[in-house]
Amino acid sequence: LRLILLGPPGAGKGTQAVRLVETRGLVQLSTGDMLRAAVKAGTPIGLRAKDIMDRGDLVPDDVVVQIVADRISNEDCAGGFILDGFPRTPGQAAALDRLLAERGLAIDVVIEFKVDEEALFGRIAKRAKETGASPRADDTPEALRKRLAVYHEQTAPLTRYYAEKDKLRSVDGMAPIDEVAAEIDGILRETAAA
Ligand code: AMP
Repeated sequence: LRLILLGPPGAGKGTQAVRLVETRGLVQLSTGDMLRAAVKAGTPIGLRAKDIMDRGDLVPDDVVVQIVADRISNEDCAGGFILDGFPRTPGQAAALDRLLAERGLAIDVVIEFKVDEEALFGRIAKRAKETGASPRADDTPEALRKRLAVYHEQTAPLTRYYAEKDKLRSVDGMAPIDEVAAEIDGILRETAAA
């Protein structure tokens, strides 16, 4: 099973991805996590990405596409994976389709998290508080505003791209975690049956 979780920051993609890893043995590919690891390790990619990430902008397509290309070739991804936070631009979506096609693979389903954006400010503030002494630099109201603007401009158009391919499903990202999980499980059952 290869799926994409699509939605703005704080929509709950990461929470659901972690659950799917536990329940289905899928691999979670979060480009945000991979980039934060690169920043922390001080790699050339990390050095290039840090300021861009801190202000809530997108890292260039070629950088993230390369990261994903390297990662999905790993053996642990053979049984399927969850893309969390990728693709985020039409260019990334096209590159992903090419990468998968070269390997004889395709995305099975894209799950969009629908949310009330004002509520995301509360969620992100909560996450910043819970991460204590080292919150993410982009979990501030200013950076979130920027990340949401970027989401609308660059990422939201992908819903149309996947709807046209008949891959798009959606869940209510404002529902309690267990309910979102149940909705996702229902979608995945349908996908497996199709
Ligand atoms: P996230 O953890 O998904 O919220 O990502 C945090 C930050 O990492 C984003 O605001 C971007 O700066 C960068 N990033 C993560 N994934 C991507 C991507 N697919 N394309 C470009 N930038 C990304």
